Order: sequence, then structure tokens, then C-alpha cells
Amino acid sequence: MKLSDFNIQHIPKTLLKQLVFEEEVLQERWDACGKCEFLTKRNRCKRCGCFMGIKSRMSKMKCPIGKWTSV
Ligand code: SF4
Repeated sequence: MKLSDFNIQHIPKTLLKQLVFEEEVLQERWDACGKCEFLTKRNRCKRCGCFMGIKSRMSKMKCPIGKWTSV
């Protein structure tokens, strides 16, 4: 799913500040996770337990083993 598929009109402003909107950042994160041995078929990280569809869009999140950082 692309970020452009989201309707952000109904998201509270406080939450908007915590989201990543740069496609380049999202792509870098997905590129790293996509090659990672800890990503499950359901896009869940076996190291942190997070669902990457959500975690990858949170600006302050980072990979638990340093494959990508917060922004
Ligand atoms: S967050 Fe890090 S450890 Fe988890 S799947 Fe992505 S790259 Fe792998």
C-alpha cells in the first residue's frame, strides 16, 4: 500500500507529527526489512514483534538491530 492511498484528513494533528510521509524514507525502511531474515511473511518483525506496515510509518521508531533509524 502506498502512502498516497491513505486519507489523512481524519488523523489527529498530534499523530500526524509522528508519521513519516517521505516516500524515500519509507522505501529505505522497507528495502531493509524486505531483505531481513527476521521479517515474517505477514510483515511482522521477529526481533521486536512489531507489524512493519505500522512501525515503518512511525518517525521515532527504529530497527532493533540497527538496519534503519528514526527520523
Ligand atoms: S525492523 Fe529490523 S530486525 Fe525487524 S524486520 Fe526490519 S530490518 Fe529486520
